[in-house]
Amino acid sequence: MIELRFHDTMAREKRVFVPANPERVTMYVCGPTVYNRAHIGNARPAVVFDVLARLLRHVYGEEKLVYARNVTDIEDKIIDAARSEGVEPAVITDRFERYYLGDMGALGVRAPTIAPHATDHIGEMIAMIGRLIDDGFAYEADGHVLFHVPADPDYGALGRRDREAMIAGARVEIASYKKDPADFVLWKPSDPQVIGWESPWGRGRPGWHIECSAMIERHLGETIDIHGGGLDLIFPHHENEIAQSRCAHRGAPLARYWLHNGFLSMAGSEKMSKSLGNVVLVGDLLGEGHKGEALRLALLSAHYRQPLDWSAQLIAQSKSTLDRLYRAAGDAAPGAIDEGVLAALADDLNTPLALSRLSALDDPATLKASANLLGLLTDSASAWFQGEGDSRIDALVAARTEAKKARDFAEADRIRAALAAEGILLEDGAGGTTWRRA
Ligand code: AMP
Ligand code: ZN
Repeated sequence: MIELRFHDTMAREKRVFVPANPERVTMYVCGPTVYNRAHIGNARPAVVFDVLARLLRHVYGEEKLVYARNVTDIEDKIIDAARSEGVEPAVITDRFERYYLGDMGALGVRAPTIAPHATDHIGEMIAMIGRLIDDGFAYEADGHVLFHVPADPDYGALGRRDREAMIAGARVEIASYKKDPADFVLWKPSDPQVIGWESPWGRGRPGWHIECSAMIERHLGETIDIHGGGLDLIFPHHENEIAQSRCAHRGAPLARYWLHNGFLSMAGSEKMSKSLGNVVLVGDLLGEGHKGEALRLALLSAHYRQPLDWSAQLIAQSKSTLDRLYRAAGDAAPGAIDEGVLAALADDLNTPLALSRLSALDDPATLKASANLLGLLTDSASAWFQGEGDSRIDALVAARTEAKKARDFAEADRIRAALAAEGILLEDGAGGTTWRRA
């Protein structure tokens, strides 16, 4: 069996990967908070960990990997979005989960083994919080339950930030009822008009961090093999997950390997993020006619730990690389995977090296199989080259269908109007929507 090596954020070095049980390899990646459309930066962890999942399935066996990616469907931003539309939070979360799955599907991201939802695990969260209180790691104050950071002497091992930095990072939550400024919320009260659940501490809702600890325990166990996410999640989110889980499990570590992807940035800025206002939505890129596979290749063009600067040129380059690879592979059936491509991925998921190796392969069957390991060249060459001019319109029609399913009629109407302005007419029929030029 090929040896895998991954850079472990906790150890700060590359380590040989040995799963606790090769018959059941466990991986958890923090998933989306479903209240808005994913930007291309949000897609980076989804695509990177999809490649890792493909590699693990290849090495250990298709059925041996249990990969969980959660859906955060209770959060204050969701509650705000629901209030401003005058709908239940579930309308918002159903809509944006649908969009997320559609967008990630277009990027060739396979569904994880399990996609647990926070609101389906409130009981598990309440039970875990109760244990933390009983064992002296958490306390109730003013309707809130807080994790008491000084009660955990090992707190902060992942990011190794000093205490001042951690207090500064937790500042958003500083409140008079905290025993220590670094303490963080496990449970908070809900006003009567806000969504909430009954608990021993009154009607309320969970803090963000506890959901991952509770869902990991429920679906994967006390200690998992790999925990992943973006760099920005190290503190406070992963630090807090670690503390909660370890303290609830008599010191058992939460994860044996920690992997974090670097940031995708825009024109040299630090990080693509909604708060900086420099986002490019995956749905918009697809609507402009870019192929999902070209966006995927662009996301894999840099090593996952390195920054990636997003640009129109990068997309164009990725598209022409794919044109070349599809021409080389033709409609060959996949053969054996090239050892060089596999070795590149086995060495801390070195996708740039794997991609340059792919470009040097001349046997179509080997090329096809090796690209498939990266989730590329999954179409037939004829499908890739055919109907290029119409694919942008097809993508917009599909986006409008998704919007209607998600009851986002404003978006559906916007797409119809935009197409009408170009002289494209839509006809909704029993078998779906067709289009024609006026
Ligand atoms: P969020 O919805 O902000 O919690 O982000 C969802 C996931 O996307 C998390 O794993 C983040 O770390 C990741 N993420 C957000 N912005 C970026 C970015 N600009 N580059 C790479 N990853 C990001
Ligand atoms: Zn998490």
